[in-house]
Amino acid sequence: MMDARKPVHTGGCQCGAVRYAVYAAPANPLICHCRTCQKAFGSPFAALVTTSHDQFAWTRGAPAWFASSSAVERGFCPQCGTPLSRQQLDRTQIQISIGSFDDPGKLSPVKQICVDKGVPWFTTLAALDALQTSEILSPEFHDNLKNYQHPDHDTLAWPSAGGQS
Ligand SMILES: [Zn+2]
Ligand SMILES: [Zn+2]
Repeated sequence: MMDARKPVHTGGCQCGAVRYAVYAAPANPLICHCRTCQKAFGSPFAALVTTSHDQFAWTRGAPAWFASSSAVERGFCPQCGTPLSRQQLDRTQIQISIGSFDDPGKLSPVKQICVDKGVPWFTTLAALDALQTSEILSPEFHDNLKNYQHPDHDTLAWPSAGGQS
């Protein structure tokens, strides 16, 4: 789908089958600790940011949906399973997973919610041993590694004819 608007943010799933664009600064980046988000993300918590349906578009492919409750459905890539979105069934808003943005570092959470449902060890994470990538992967391993994930920018075609781009 072509859209004349210039995206503020782009993102998508790890395999590249589903891509999206956000056309206005999204609001309310947050961490949700609820059990539903834990299961939907396969993660101890979910990082999400809110936008409106009219400032958002799926630009390649489309997600599959699972209604995780009577009020909310979750969008994920039908090819690779990446969690992408969460939306009210009445379509009042859509939330996008911060980790699926091409530059998630630009979406700094402003609050945590449902902290009473969080894993009890969450608050201990900052005190854990913290290792750099180079401390766990040798340069040889890293140099020889082929990354099959979609790159962190839009592509005209994917998989690209010449491999990674
Ligand atoms: Zn995918
Ligand atoms: Zn949640």
